[in-house]
Amino acid sequence: MIKLTCGATDCVHNSRELCTARSIHVGGIATESSEGTQCDTFSPKGVKNAFNSLGNMNLTGEFKQLFTKEDIKMSPGIGCSAEKCVFNEKRICSASDVRIEGLGADSSEATNCSAFRMN
Ligand code: SF4
Ligand code: SF4
Repeated sequence: MIKLTCGATDCVHNSRELCTARSIHVGGIATESSEGTQCDTFSPKGVKNAFNSLGNMNLTGEFKQLFTKEDIKMSPGIGCSAEKCVFNEKRICSASDVRIEGLGADSSEATNCSAFRMN
């Protein structure tokens, strides 16, 4: 199970630095560094986006974690176009521990995947 944490706390999917989305997509085709990646699923907090995000919400994982306070139970699937990353396997992320950075981010472009490693 991928452990995904996220510092983009202004994203509608962010709950205490965990991602409540069922799946995310990381962009960064042809990039050779973490800075060239971004979480395309980022969506700024707001009433409209909160409503729109419900369709991509990992409700089961979220509730499990709230009730058990154990290890990460949420496991969003991660699609990724950063093909030069060593963890990219046919556009699916195979890393066990992924951290999206983006403190204060107000757009996808201000986020990045710090787990990127050049192939
Ligand atoms: S920026 Fe991406 S990884 Fe972070 S909470 Fe939002 S959707 Fe999830
Ligand atoms: S670790 Fe690599 S493959 Fe996984 S999401 Fe980040 S950039 Fe994409």
